[in-house]
Amino acid sequence: MFQSVVTNSPLRVSIVGAGATDVELAAELSRLLEVASSYGDPSLRSRLNLTVYESAPRVLAAFPPAVSESSEEQLRHIGFTVRTGTRVTAAEPDGLRLGDGSQQAADLMVWAAGVKAPDFLGKLDGIESNRSNPIIVRPTLQTQDDDTLFALGDCPTLTLAGKEHPLAPTAQVATQQARHLAKYLPAWLDGGSLPDFAFHDFGALVSLSDYNAFGTLGQFGVFRGGFIKGRFAQLSHAMLYRQHQHALHGFRKAMTLWTAERIKGFVQPKIRLS
Ligand SMILES: Cc1cc2nc3c(=O)[nH]c(=O)nc-3n(C[C@H](O)[C@H](O)[C@H](O)COP(=O)(O)OP(=O)(O)OC[C@H]3O[C@@H](n4cnc5c(N)ncnc54)[C@H](O)[C@@H]3O)c2cc1C
Repeated sequence: MFQSVVTNSPLRVSIVGAGATDVELAAELSRLLEVASSYGDPSLRSRLNLTVYESAPRVLAAFPPAVSESSEEQLRHIGFTVRTGTRVTAAEPDGLRLGDGSQQAADLMVWAAGVKAPDFLGKLDGIESNRSNPIIVRPTLQTQDDDTLFALGDCPTLTLAGKEHPLAPTAQVATQQARHLAKYLPAWLDGGSLPDFAFHDFGALVSLSDYNAFGTLGQFGVFRGGFIKGRFAQLSHAMLYRQHQHALHGFRKAMTLWTAERIKGFVQPKIRLS
């Protein structure tokens, strides 16, 4: 980016993957450069050539189609080229290599496709894992062959009965699994039974910087399966973040953090240019 500012040259940014992290990153990057443009180089944003590559037929494949469609529309609206159904096979010094053998030149490449567990997880003796290394667990979160070994959060993979895909590696799943084990493990240690883990989908949200936010309210909230967008979705996203802070730090510290962030937002510039 610095080179682009100095030499007035175009800046080609490619993001590989269009999951929640990638889509949020794309929007933040665009917003950041809009703000940077206002610091003396109004043409900076227009020199940007932004592309998102996704092998699945739509962005945010794990989200309901309404969220995908709205997010893709928003990305295109802020100037991204969205190439779905396009597999990237390698990142090379000058750009990305695509599945059809072609090369797409890029100055800045961000690879954010796929979630892979560390290799050592796939090599643990007597513990079954799949190609991406996560430990395969039973619905009780016990490993396949050992009742005394449990795995939860991002490190296991679990496909619930009647479901086509495994549970996504998200904080929502990790937290519910932790609560499940915290609740039932003491009784199990005393010889009781261990019920299967049941996932309650409270929905998912994706925030596209200041532009917009989209989400679904899941199957267990008050407005089941509802689609939300705009200010309400942005507010829900912000509240989720505060909720996490509250869970981690408690009420007083969370309030102090919130106040400190409000003051910082008021006195500090929105971006660092160094
Ligand atoms: C960029 C990004 C954005 C995300 N956004 C969302 C989101 O918006 N919503 C959502 O639901 N989920 C989101 N996730 C996923 C979410 O963060 C994870 O699903 C969740 O944190 C999993 O919890 P966990 O406890 O299994 O693992 P982690 O939260 O990763 O915790 C594992 C901990 O173990 C520590 N550790 C690792 N190895 C060792 C070791 N050998 N010894 C000791 N300690 C070790 C790590 O340092 C870490 O602190 C996001 C993830 C990323 C990377």
